[in-house]
Amino acid sequence: MTNLTIPIAVKDAGEAKEQIGRAKHGGAQMLELRTDYLEELSVEAVKVLLGEAKKSDLPVIVTCRDKREGGEGDWDGEVRIEILVSAVEAGADIIDCEYRNFLQGENQTKIKSALEGNPAARLILSAHNFEGKFDDIKARYIEILKAFPAAIPKLVYTANHINDCFEAFDLLAGKKVDAIVFAMGQAGLISRIIAKKLDSFVTFASVDGANATAPGQITIDELKGLYHYDQINSETELYGIIGSPVGHSMGPAVHNACFDKAGLNKLYLPVHVDGGKAEFDEFMKNVIGREWLGFGGFSVTIPHKQNALEFIKEAGGYLEPLAERIGAVNTLIIDQSGKVSGYNTDYAGAMDAIRSSMGRELKGVSAAVIGAGGAARAIVAGLADAGAGVKIYNRTVAKGEKLAAEFGCAFAGLGDLTSLDAELVVNATSIGMSPNVDASPVAVECLKSGMVVFDTVYNPIETKLLRDAKRAGAKTIGGVAMFVGQAMAQFKLFTGQEGDAELMGETIFDCLSKQS
Ligand code: NAP
Repeated sequence: MTNLTIPIAVKDAGEAKEQIGRAKHGGAQMLELRTDYLEELSVEAVKVLLGEAKKSDLPVIVTCRDKREGGEGDWDGEVRIEILVSAVEAGADIIDCEYRNFLQGENQTKIKSALEGNPAARLILSAHNFEGKFDDIKARYIEILKAFPAAIPKLVYTANHINDCFEAFDLLAGKKVDAIVFAMGQAGLISRIIAKKLDSFVTFASVDGANATAPGQITIDELKGLYHYDQINSETELYGIIGSPVGHSMGPAVHNACFDKAGLNKLYLPVHVDGGKAEFDEFMKNVIGREWLGFGGFSVTIPHKQNALEFIKEAGGYLEPLAERIGAVNTLIIDQSGKVSGYNTDYAGAMDAIRSSMGRELKGVSAAVIGAGGAARAIVAGLADAGAGVKIYNRTVAKGEKLAAEFGCAFAGLGDLTSLDAELVVNATSIGMSPNVDASPVAVECLKSGMVVFDTVYNPIETKLLRDAKRAGAKTIGGVAMFVGQAMAQFKLFTGQEGDAELMGETIFDCLSKQS
């Protein structure tokens, strides 16, 4: 069982009372008293703190973290051992001592003797590396258990890239005893969530954003609300959005809400893959080589849509002809044998959004598409397939001309938007996206009634372009419609079932209103 543990890092017992109450109310299953945060550290002060924590009826870990391993105060080593020993005597369920300090002088003897006096108490022997991976994490794990076989080894390190997380997963998957292994930092975020699937003894979450005690620690509300922590078990199938950045993606909220509503044991994660094709390939190989991790598929966003396409070609997986023609894959499915197939659902999402608002056949409609990136490619392909007359406008001329040539369209630079004359206008650039909400790719005087204006940007929900278009009397389509359309098609690929478009839309509005 994984104990969802909230660190209580406070100056005194008074402050602790309030935090412990919030932790319990939020659903904590264990508390970690970080006594190194106390303003005045003494055996007496720790006993008072422990007494306060015990009132919660939750199991309590007591630690007095060494500054060299992320601790707060610069406390003397002997004092810290004295605190741990007295905590065992005062009824702490678990104490956490840094492995290197356990080995020093008389520390081992003192701790073992305290544990003999309270046989129910357990010992975590921990090692932290804030710089990066351990030289040999497996060897460290074995060493800890050799030193004290009843210990709970805790190995925590900073992941400088998401690919650094996999050795933590390997260790958890192969463990024979209770152990705690995860990676810190933004790149290590998924390891804190997957910890439950892999039966880590503990995963840590903070009571709120202001009280995180380690980089990348998420709040208990996020863990339970966004990632449906309570439903995660060893059978949970994993999905996620691969991109860089992905922190503000709506994907986790939207897909997890729909998985939950459909009663599916699936979890969707933000998968921040930094770097280019080499890092993307390594990530995919890490996932495919570990079928026990249970990854079933991914959404793919900037900057990896083309990397995903190349990966499938090289790996010999199925590539949907539409995705190949567009030159971008935004959905990956991994089957039970580890074969990966690639699809593009931006096309369907955008075309459904356009068709449902146009109110007429697209054949012969004059369309202006601003942008020549991944989204523009899908939209240009869709409009060209439907027989619309498309003119592409893009900042980088060579890129725009290439796209125009591929799909038999006209091309012009962004300067030519002043003489815009089209029935359908599509913004497929990031102009106007939060935080640059006062920007628009088209001057207000170029927008006319009778136009249909579609902005793929969905944050904010109503962009300046859409506001200006409305004022000019044009019909507007927001980016949320496309987002929901492409997410619905992804949900079908992930699950074989229809998603809930209404729930997706509500979730997006909810997320965006919380952000603003
Ligand atoms: P991308 O492949 O990186 O392409 C970005 C495009 O925006 C390029 O054409 C780029 O021009 C242009 N651009 C960026 N900044 C610009 C600036 N300051 N001035 C002029 N042009 C600029 O990205 P993408 O995946 O196509 O995404 C583009 C937009 O579509 C984003 O806003 C994204 O949120 C939106 N989108 C929405 C959905 C949805 O479901 N609603 C789905 C996918 C994408 P250059 O070629 O000159 O660099």
